[in-house]
Amino acid sequence: MIHYNKPSITELEIEMVSDAMKSSWGSDAGKWVSRFEKEFADKLGFTYAVATSSCTGALHIGLRTLGIGPGDEVILADSNWIATLAPIIYVGARPVLVDIDKHTWCIDVDAAISATTQSTKAIIATHLYGNVADILRLKDFCKANDIFLIEDAAEALGSFLDEQHVGNFGDFAVFSFHGSKTITTGEGGMFVSNSAPLTDRFRILANHGRSPLETRQFRPQEIGYKYKMSDIQAALGLAQLSRFDELVERKREIFNIYYTSLCNLPQIMLNKVPFGSKSGYWITNVFVDNKFGPTREDFLHELRKRNIDGRVFFWPLSSLGLIDNSNNDLTNSYIVSQHSINLPSSYDISYEEQMNVVECIRTTFEEKSQK
Ligand SMILES: *Cc1c(COP(=O)(O)O)cnc(C)c1O
Repeated sequence: MIHYNKPSITELEIEMVSDAMKSSWGSDAGKWVSRFEKEFADKLGFTYAVATSSCTGALHIGLRTLGIGPGDEVILADSNWIATLAPIIYVGARPVLVDIDKHTWCIDVDAAISATTQSTKAIIATHLYGNVADILRLKDFCKANDIFLIEDAAEALGSFLDEQHVGNFGDFAVFSFHGSKTITTGEGGMFVSNSAPLTDRFRILANHGRSPLETRQFRPQEIGYKYKMSDIQAALGLAQLSRFDELVERKREIFNIYYTSLCNLPQIMLNKVPFGSKSGYWITNVFVDNKFGPTREDFLHELRKRNIDGRVFFWPLSSLGLIDNSNNDLTNSYIVSQHSINLPSSYDISYEEQMNVVECIRTTFEEKSQK
């Protein structure tokens, strides 16, 4: 089986987790988490970072921190994992789905601007598959219109714009350390921000509404949430973080091999990197820009025959039947989803295995494009 996405776990990870299991209890509890937060922020250039039990949880509390709730609208791209949408519902706000840019697969900024109303409180830009969204334009627009900008950088570790790591452009950003992500803690996430008041508020809400100024024991000031990370997870995160450059380099190498082998097929587009940006290439995705060309089912069929685990591009959120569809034009979100396939991008994939995947894509492309 050629796996879709597996983390890289070495002796270092095993040793550090084992240390944490022996030492992270009683009055020493929380030390590994604090270290992970600090090293993560230092490595990627954020002022503050708070580790959480998941990225979904980080986004949920982040929205609460901004005071977003009933009556408010939050704009996001229709091509997204459900985790980007669900927290908007948790806080009682209304998600407004807009189309993606056909080249970057990230939120179409013009569409986001047209969808803005008096009720729009925030725009969430997801850096999909590590591709960098047009975040500078969004930032200008949000600033001029008093709207919060949130970066969902769950898939974008190792992605940069103008030498700055993504996550540095919005009011806050969230990262994921789920087992499929570029660095993992099993399950886990991170909230990052350059604002002290936002971060302080976040910490209180993520820790049962307990203020650090409260000196009495077990005295929350409000009903909060319990979305913390454990030291054992943080130890795994620290080991992974110390290998950050190596891991991102490997993702880039995997992408480059696919790119070199597939780029000469007509109408095929792989992850696109806008001028001035660098991608962490969480996953290589192949999109055939031709509505008569092969579909995701064609590719999946061929891959499965060879025991290769390819995955579909995210379904348009508007197609899931879970929320009221917006009236916005979502054409690209549907086209890209229908004619795309995620290629296996595990750290341990060999060159021969990648060539096997390439062979599948070429065969499907040649057979299905002739019809
Ligand atoms: C993985 C992912 C998340 C959610 O991360 P969890 O840690 O599983 O909660 C959110 N947004 C996007 C775009 C993701 O890919």
